[in-house]
Amino acid sequence: MSEFKFHAPDEYRKNAWIKTMDEYKQMYDQSIEKPEEFWTQMADQFYWEKRWDSVRDYNYSISKGPINIEWFKGGKTNITYNCLDRHLKDRGDQTALIWEGNSIGEDREISYKELYEMVCQFANVLKSKGVQKGDRVAIYMPMIPELAVTMLACARIGAIHSIVFGGFSADALSNRILDSLCKVLVTSDGVMRGAKAVPLKGNADTAMDLCEKQGHLVECCVVVNRTGSEVEMKQGRDVWWHEQIQAQSMDCPVEWMDAEDPLFILYTSGSTGTPKGVQHNVGGYMVYTGITFRYIFDYHDNDIYWCTADIGWVTGHSYIVYGPLSQGATSIMFEGVPNYPDPGRFWATVDKWKVNQFYTAPTAIRALMAQGEQWVEKYDLSSLRLLGSVGEPINPEAWKWYFKHVGKERCPIVDTWWQTETGGIMITALPYAIDQKPGSATLPFFGVNPVLLNEEGKPLEGACDGILAIQEPWPGQMRTVYNNHERFEKVYFQMFDGYYFAGDGCRRDEDGYYWITGRVDDVINVSGHRMGTAEVESALVSHKEVAEAAVIGFPHDIKGQGIYAFVTLNVSATPSDELLSQLKLHVRKEIGPIATPDIIHFAPALPKTRSGKIMRRILRKIATDEFDSLGDISTLADPEVVGSLIENHKELT
Ligand code: ATP
Ligand code: MG
Repeated sequence: MSEFKFHAPDEYRKNAWIKTMDEYKQMYDQSIEKPEEFWTQMADQFYWEKRWDSVRDYNYSISKGPINIEWFKGGKTNITYNCLDRHLKDRGDQTALIWEGNSIGEDREISYKELYEMVCQFANVLKSKGVQKGDRVAIYMPMIPELAVTMLACARIGAIHSIVFGGFSADALSNRILDSLCKVLVTSDGVMRGAKAVPLKGNADTAMDLCEKQGHLVECCVVVNRTGSEVEMKQGRDVWWHEQIQAQSMDCPVEWMDAEDPLFILYTSGSTGTPKGVQHNVGGYMVYTGITFRYIFDYHDNDIYWCTADIGWVTGHSYIVYGPLSQGATSIMFEGVPNYPDPGRFWATVDKWKVNQFYTAPTAIRALMAQGEQWVEKYDLSSLRLLGSVGEPINPEAWKWYFKHVGKERCPIVDTWWQTETGGIMITALPYAIDQKPGSATLPFFGVNPVLLNEEGKPLEGACDGILAIQEPWPGQMRTVYNNHERFEKVYFQMFDGYYFAGDGCRRDEDGYYWITGRVDDVINVSGHRMGTAEVESALVSHKEVAEAAVIGFPHDIKGQGIYAFVTLNVSATPSDELLSQLKLHVRKEIGPIATPDIIHFAPALPKTRSGKIMRRILRKIATDEFDSLGDISTLADPEVVGSLIENHKELT
């Protein structure tokens, strides 16, 4: 792959938290050799009502007993106190959240003081509904300020929130409510999507009915009036947000939580199978998200930071709300979509708020890239100092486009590898200290000790290709699968005794840089050559007509597995036999004959999770004609895509 390395300009480096590779190395070594000392220094930057008794305790090996991970045991704190109360003295009037609404011109700036008051008021509403420490509260809402307020209000009184992405169905919502027996549900009447209002409360009603049929009663449903659409309010259960808060005081004492008390439950995206109810606990998650946020996004006072994720995903939890607010940052929360009213929306918004750090996903970058750069060129993006990527491997071609057209070849890109399970970023560049290579997540963050294993679980040395695992806990690590510790142990610790198994394949190069090659489940084996999906897909995407690609292996009589590539073209291109042969030739040239796709399927769109990740397991089923056993497709964004792929596939074969 590309040998290009980007070294961020000195003008930015001057003020950076971590300026040089030596500084990074020194801190990294300390974090690995003396983790207790390192994390004590970090945790000391937060407010603790009572200090911890021990920094970390753990058992990572099933053969030695139950898996157990604890950080800052005995300590007492509250994450909302750290995100709001402690900033009031110095930053009360500073903007905490900038809300950029769905429609142009619709926005709101909320100061730390205002946010504090809103959170206290709503925490009092929850209390008035009988919510107590340890109770579960489901949240099913669009990206409106009340969503962040609800999270922080739950955390303030020790209730455990479980956010379900607002685009999910009633079924998905009811399953998640049932899994943790949520007592209260907070939702809204509707959601703005592009030019229209889409109802939401109806889904919530159906979900609550489904729960009732299973014997679980949601006691109270609080509804935010977002779209003004008509909804049914069930007497004795449903109440309006705006009516409820009126009677409540703006004062609400915090509940001091044990560091190891649960903070929230969040389900994984479901790319590889049935989602897992990931549980994060208060202390370690707070420290890890705050510290990663500050160093990785190099956040300084007065910066305007924007992460485009939905708060329904872990990225939004950690890097729109908790991480930024614990650091006293100004964080943008965007209700809309990248292509409304036109594909220039992201860049118009960067220009409008003079955004300094911008964090988005490869799926968005590829989609906007396919629309052409004229949408980017229209706006002044000179405020940007740093770009970020998360969610999937970023193809070098998309990386270069982002770097050139958005970052104007000045801004470093932090390609951040992490998972719902890890709570915060694990492998990433520190923007000014670690030079970047397009497509590589680069090096581990402080306290993260990765290893690449072979199939037998033996650690590999030096430059190699293997299975990514982590050797020791870090504070942000999930503690369990909610109510199912056995599943937690089985999924993450059984595969390789003594290691956290991440499920991703990875390559390490001569510089020690890490390159995520795709999911372990998706590895393709052609005539004995093992290949990750990322490399072949990136080769396809590097062709000028290709917007996006997904490759999978299918049974092949001679080679064991053949390569089947689903390819989406740029808006300006049309499928043809000539383009098909060109693409095969192109991959041959980029990687080698072994990676040449056997079948290329021009697809109008690819099946993706609601968070925008390609679901290769469904493509595998299509390629092998197993249309009736597609598995769990409840997290699919657009199920219709599947039908048209099946039709195309039948014509192809
Ligand atoms: P499930 O676990 O239910 O199958 P999921 O893995 O998609 O769903 P998430 O926790 O949202 O759920 O995603 C984490 C995964 O996303 C990682 O394991 C990795 O495969 C991928 N990923 C995230 N960031 C990056 C990145 N910067 N580079 C490469 N892959 C990434
Ligand atoms: Mg996963």
